[in-house]
Amino acid sequence: MTAPRLEIALDKIEHNARTLRKWYAGKGIQLTAVTKGVCGAPQVARALLRSGINSLGDSRLANIRAMRQAGVRAEFMLVRSPMLSQVADAVELADISLNSEIVVLRALSECAAGRGKRHRVILMVELGDLREGVLPQDVDPIVAETVNLPGIDLVGVGTNLACFGGVRPTDDKMQQLSAIAGHIEGTWGCSLQIISGGNSSNYQWTALMPDMGRINHLRIGESILLGCDPLTRQPLPGLYTDAFTLIGEVIELKTKPSRPDGTIAQDAFGHVPHFVDKGNIRRAILALGRQDIDVSTVKPCLQVDILGASSDHLLLDATGVSLEVGDEIRFDLAYGALLRTMTSPYIVKEYQLQSNIHKQYRHHRQRVLESTFRPATARH
Ligand SMILES: *Cc1c(COP(=O)(O)O)cnc(C)c1O
Repeated sequence: MTAPRLEIALDKIEHNARTLRKWYAGKGIQLTAVTKGVCGAPQVARALLRSGINSLGDSRLANIRAMRQAGVRAEFMLVRSPMLSQVADAVELADISLNSEIVVLRALSECAAGRGKRHRVILMVELGDLREGVLPQDVDPIVAETVNLPGIDLVGVGTNLACFGGVRPTDDKMQQLSAIAGHIEGTWGCSLQIISGGNSSNYQWTALMPDMGRINHLRIGESILLGCDPLTRQPLPGLYTDAFTLIGEVIELKTKPSRPDGTIAQDAFGHVPHFVDKGNIRRAILALGRQDIDVSTVKPCLQVDILGASSDHLLLDATGVSLEVGDEIRFDLAYGALLRTMTSPYIVKEYQLQSNIHKQYRHHRQRVLESTFRPATARH
């Protein structure tokens, strides 16, 4: 089989999505499954829909277009504000979009009304993370105009936390969003169907709080795909954390010094590297590089240390590990690595309807991982 490749266990993704769908449904929360982490791969989209979730979200219209063209049938939510330059495509491809600018809402309205369509919009409210959203005190004027725009329907409010500012979705933040929903309904006599409290990082709040207030919707990507809580990166109960495995191949294996020989200047990425002299070590080079992966968020499933990477070479300290040129090394991925890996055209994507990692191996592998994982020391 060719390397580098990404093995994608569709059955595990489906299991994670179904488990989370049921768990959140027990709290009165519906899910939109977010596909941007897998570039809107239609195979993954279908696995998500098999779980019983019927709404898919992506930040990029190109991904939504790819899913539609592949025949994926779902409700599509654009989870990033449409660009003014693409409102026509947004109306064409997305059933619903997240918005925070009145000029964009006006353009969506004009475009939808002109085509005899109705486009649904959710107003995003800024609650402290400082990415998208109107400030709470600015909600009134934008709603006042939006509810009167033809062609678009204001169906809800939403917020996004723990993305840019790392701000936790607390009960206080969620109550603020519920209150804003109530205020809008009270003032304009409309009914908001979707109160979208956030993303995967809302898990702990949902688990700990007995009362969800008005929150009845979340947009979930990472916890379905990687089975973990983004606030802590700890595995979530009952979910697979190994739906994605990256495989690279050893192209050189030699015993060499641990410290470069010569006067050290800048490396290929403009940093001046520092090296500890550990004497001679067994160095493995893999045909993988920064163009394919985010080096700091891959975890080798073998007892090796990542020394660093250049564009096309990943350097490992494989001292004490029996390896040969041509051997494959498997890696688990965190979100950053998943994004980069999915985006790299050089990495073959292998979609597995029935993944071949059986239980025993998985447990063994989990043990190996837990006992050996040390954070990568990238060249900075
Ligand atoms: C990416 C994104 C999500 C999904 O986030 P996860 O942490 O992957 O669950 C939800 N909402 C918005 C607005 C996003 O951009």
